[in-house]
Amino acid sequence: MDIILKFLKKAYDSYGKLPMRIRFLIVVSFFMILFLVSVSLKQYQYKEEKIYGNPNHVQNNSKNGSNPSVIEEENTIPEPKEVKVVIDPGHGGEDLGATKGDLCEKRLNLDISKRTGKLLENLGINVIYTREKDVAVGLDERVNIANNLDATLFISVHNNYMPNDAGYKGTETLYCPPVTTEENKMDGMKLATIVQRKLIGNLKTVDNGIIYRPNLVVLRKTNMPAVIAEIAYISNSSDRAKLVDEDFRENAAEALSEAVMEALEYMKAEKNENGVWMIMD
Ligand SMILES: [Zn+2]
Repeated sequence: MDIILKFLKKAYDSYGKLPMRIRFLIVVSFFMILFLVSVSLKQYQYKEEKIYGNPNHVQNNSKNGSNPSVIEEENTIPEPKEVKVVIDPGHGGEDLGATKGDLCEKRLNLDISKRTGKLLENLGINVIYTREKDVAVGLDERVNIANNLDATLFISVHNNYMPNDAGYKGTETLYCPPVTTEENKMDGMKLATIVQRKLIGNLKTVDNGIIYRPNLVVLRKTNMPAVIAEIAYISNSSDRAKLVDEDFRENAAEALSEAVMEALEYMKAEKNENGVWMIMD
């Protein structure tokens, strides 16, 4: 012990006698060596974990069965999740929605919704309906279906009715203002803009624009970007004539499915090697 102390003191004394430049160089090289040693140690450790797995990480290994240490290392990278599009045909059962003569909103909504879903399914999208039959589904129930699934997008399909103004017609898309608007992130308003543009482009109906509706349950309580597409006015005779035409309803469905795909593209959704559409959370 004494010898070591003596040696250190001697080394320190002679270090003190060295010119300033040399002393500086010695300090710099010392830290550089320290840095290189720590980096190579870390790399060595990482390689070991990759090969043998780190027992400290095994607890987190239930996610997808791949190498546990790699999951831990990539913890900061967002995990991909499956794209799920909820289609919500408005009304149903004893709730007819708007009616005029034998034209009934709930049936039009379901028809357009199913056509939309079919087009999306053909593209490999996982579609979930809030109803597939003529049954009553509560508004909160519709919201819960989407929220429990952690759905990617929520598209509600309706047709409108203007009391005391049979001349009023056209298409509008309703949205709830997003709580936070982030640039590059999809939200209800952006989705509404896409849906409205696609509907007007395909249907050539009167463009009533996107409308801010903060109090509608399915828009307010859903956790994902959500819209209500009001395809046309049942109270208007020329819109009614369009709605009874199957081609018009198919065109509406095409517009909605194209809007969904545009929104998903904006959200950087991609098909994985198994043909499943995935999105970064
Ligand atoms: Zn409705």
